[in-house]
Amino acid sequence: MSTEATLLERCENKCELCSAQTTLTPYVVAPHSNVTVDHAIMLCETCKSQVEDPATMDVNHWRCLNDSMWSQVAPVQVTAWRQLKHLSAESWAQDLLEMMYLEEDIAKWAEIGMDDDAEKPRDVNGVELKKGDDVTVIKDLPVKGTNQVIKQGTVIRGISLGDDPRLVSGKTNGGQSMYVIAEFCRKK
Ligand SMILES: [Zn+2]
Repeated sequence: MSTEATLLERCENKCELCSAQTTLTPYVVAPHSNVTVDHAIMLCETCKSQVEDPATMDVNHWRCLNDSMWSQVAPVQVTAWRQLKHLSAESWAQDLLEMMYLEEDIAKWAEIGMDDDAEKPRDVNGVELKKGDDVTVIKDLPVKGTNQVIKQGTVIRGISLGDDPRLVSGKTNGGQSMYVIAEFCRKK
């Protein structure tokens, strides 16, 4: 039996993420690049295009992860986890991520394939921070080289991103410019 036929049998002709019964094509879960039963999943056109380009994600479509995240199939788990990560600005997606359990090697696989995103600043909840966001500082932070402290709860408006993905910069309400570590912020 060909790989694709095996995959179609596994998924019972339903999209492995949203269960749509439509034309399905194999999607290889990065960083793997060959269609194998262990590394590929069968996806409908909607899921596939949005998995390939997360910028086009239709948030409501991905409510389907509520079911598919419990799949026993490793590459489905990996893809579901990554899609939830992309959606982690949504509280329901965060709840699902918290419930989700991945075996250690599967968790590693899931993270490796998201390397692109390691270069983006993320707040304490892993939410990507973008230029112009407002953030709240979540703990008192000493300012290097001074005896000043940025107080917990300080709001920094309209942040900018620099070359270092761990840092964001912006101004407080008092007009003071500062750099803070992204993971000590929470997006407002
Ligand atoms: Zn689908």
